[in-house]
Amino acid sequence: MRAVRMTAPGVLEQTEVPVPTAGPGEVLLRVGAVGACHSDLHILDAPAGMFPTPMTLGHEVAGTVDQVGAGVSGWSPGDRTAVYGIIGCGHCRACLRGLEDQCRVVPVGGVGLSRDGGLAEYVVVPASRLLHVGDLDLSQAAPLTDAGLTPYHAIELARPRLRPGTTCVVIGIGGLGHMAVQILVATTAVRIIAVDTSVAALDLASRLGAHEVVRAGPDAVEQIRTLVGPPPDGADVVLDFVGADPTLTTARQVVATGGQLLLVGLAGGTLPVRPVADEPPTVPLETSVVVPFWGTRAELQEVIALGRAGQLHADVQTFPLDRASEAYEALRRGEIHGRAVIMP
Ligand code: NAD
Ligand code: ZN
Ligand code: ZN
Repeated sequence: MRAVRMTAPGVLEQTEVPVPTAGPGEVLLRVGAVGACHSDLHILDAPAGMFPTPMTLGHEVAGTVDQVGAGVSGWSPGDRTAVYGIIGCGHCRACLRGLEDQCRVVPVGGVGLSRDGGLAEYVVVPASRLLHVGDLDLSQAAPLTDAGLTPYHAIELARPRLRPGTTCVVIGIGGLGHMAVQILVATTAVRIIAVDTSVAALDLASRLGAHEVVRAGPDAVEQIRTLVGPPPDGADVVLDFVGADPTLTTARQVVATGGQLLLVGLAGGTLPVRPVADEPPTVPLETSVVVPFWGTRAELQEVIALGRAGQLHADVQTFPLDRASEAYEALRRGEIHGRAVIMP
């Protein structure tokens, strides 16, 4: 079968590999769709040894059951599924509570992270990772598993502060951010302020229900403060889907005293946290900083329900498998709006 693999750090290649077989407890899926996540670019850029090579990329996967391994019940060939990508140890304190995103044994284990992912004609996954998607289009189901689930989880963590009448600033309206805007619209009554460098991304945010948009740049903090009030007032919640120095600087300068800053983007910026007596604090007093990771299986089921109810829809640009590298190059140049989805 054809597979798009990271063969060495920074090297993405289309290769031929044997169709894998489903072991006990596993399922062989015919891949229908795979979202191209910005994290795949971070994985490609990571130093040697952080991720296994060769490894088929693709952690945002939807497909159809082809074969079931020994001992698998409840799944049959033809079932249409989305893949919950995290594979925790299953028996630590966190996994037992359903918080596999916090597994104490396997910190970043999963499909397309620590084993072969979905950028291929077939993929093998543990049967326990599958969720039914009903009649949802697989090109929609795939982005729900990460571009949908990750912001949903972050918003769940922030939910106690997302009261009607509060304000949420969403920075980075790409694959994750454009889903975040819709999840906020569908599940809260907050005022949404979208921030991006790209005008097209801001247009998308407005179409999806953001109440205000602000172009990232030197005036962004002043513009946002005009909307939310200057310190110690500010935005009740800030979701940063970029995580670079400039966005973290904006985030900490506009978050309210006692607010919450959720750092989802993995661009490697630094957030200084330094309370001092004789200077304004780098992060407002009583503000909580959270570094969310992906989400839980139960949350993915809720995200799929939002998708099936028509309240969460990925703006998708599709590519065939042999043009996967083109999709990633466009993503790196910032030319994908919404999510690029590869259809093997
Ligand atoms: P994307 O490329 O689709 O979207 C990024 C968006 O940010 C784009 O619209 C871009 O124009 C905008 N942007 C870039 N620089 C900006 C700046 N300085 N100011 C304002 N906007 C800016 O990426 P994505 O797939 O949505 O992923 C976003 C980030 O989240 C990536 O770093 C990814 O690795 C990370 N991520 C984290 C998790 C997690 O569990 N923590 C899960 C998935 C993705
Ligand atoms: Zn991802
Ligand atoms: Zn565990």
